[in-house]
Amino acid sequence: MRVEVTRTAVLRYPLGFVAKLGYDTNQIVETFKLFRAIATHLYWCKKLGIEPDPNVVAKAQQLHSYFRDCIFNERSQRYLFKNIDEIPRPRKTLLDLNPRVGVVIYPKMNNCVVLNLDRSEIWVYGLNRGTSIRLLLRKKTVEWIKKILVENPRKMATLVLRDDVLEIHLHFSKSVEVPDIELPLPCGKYVIAVVDINSRYGVVCTWMFIDIDRGVCRVIRFKKYRRRNLSKLWSYVSYIQRLRDRLRNIGALDYRKKLLYNKLVSQCLKKISAINRDFVAKTTNEIVCRTRRLAKRYGAQPLIVVDKPDPESLKGSALQQTLLRLTKILRVKVLWYGVPYIECRLASTVCPFCNEKMKVVRKTKRSRIYRCPRCGFEADRDLVPAYSFLMHYSTLKVGYPQRDHQHKVSIHRD
Ligand SMILES: [Zn+2]
Repeated sequence: MRVEVTRTAVLRYPLGFVAKLGYDTNQIVETFKLFRAIATHLYWCKKLGIEPDPNVVAKAQQLHSYFRDCIFNERSQRYLFKNIDEIPRPRKTLLDLNPRVGVVIYPKMNNCVVLNLDRSEIWVYGLNRGTSIRLLLRKKTVEWIKKILVENPRKMATLVLRDDVLEIHLHFSKSVEVPDIELPLPCGKYVIAVVDINSRYGVVCTWMFIDIDRGVCRVIRFKKYRRRNLSKLWSYVSYIQRLRDRLRNIGALDYRKKLLYNKLVSQCLKKISAINRDFVAKTTNEIVCRTRRLAKRYGAQPLIVVDKPDPESLKGSALQQTLLRLTKILRVKVLWYGVPYIECRLASTVCPFCNEKMKVVRKTKRSRIYRCPRCGFEADRDLVPAYSFLMHYSTLKVGYPQRDHQHKVSIHRD
């Protein structure tokens, strides 16, 4: 199966910061406004099947050719109005359309965005008349881009101006051949990572090696990923908001104080979202890297199985957004390396062997041990999804593990 995978990095530069570097930010804002107006006009003309206004087309000459390409050139990769007929009609009249532009790596220069990785800089042409805008890249970003470039992907960028922040979204895409996986797994050797997305704990990953032909099954590793507890930060946010409201109620909230309180809140929210982003990035990276490494070591086909969270069960959970984003990002990262990715529902409280509802027998801070009242199967709740997968989606016959099941699973053979 061939899939198209795109990985994206978002670089954010506040306009205030860009102005400090000596660039005329008014010109940047004007360019975006002009582009948005012209692109919206062309969008509606195309959608409604009418000829664009010649005055508007003439006005488009003021835009740099980098930006004209994605609204006029239908054969371009970056053309914005592909499959426009299939998209439902937008409610807004003026649309948030952003220019899609080409990206090259220095010493090539002939494009809108130039990545100069040796100098850790990104150069954007066409926004400022005549000159380029040169912005610094973080060390981490440079390393990430270098790693991605090894795979020789296609490069594209979207320039976005949102809330006085210039955003550069770098898209790297490639077409990947992913082995087809037949379920239930008929034969062969696999290293399977069963990822259980859990609203209470965060993420639990179980790595197993199975050799269906020889009837071998082993749990190699088992790891829980927990996000840092954010309750302190959240209560700080509500504390500041309470203070601000109290001041407002007695009429003592002047403009300067209001700005100060809002700044404190937004700083804290930024911190929270940075922690979440970090958690998602680290967790997904580790799952993907470890799975590939183990597969190599065992000479087996890697496979990632995600117990997709039920949006209902995650509802209201503070972790919800983070976990849903995590599945999305994990999928992209996994497919990028050509590792098959499967999403399915795996029960964690139903006995994988006889489908009886299991009961908690022991509960500690770190684990919950469940036991099946009918057949006596006993395991950590977080290991149950892995057994469920083996029982329901492979032809391997696994006998249920006895007490000492942590790392070895006893096997029945036919
Ligand atoms: Zn049972």
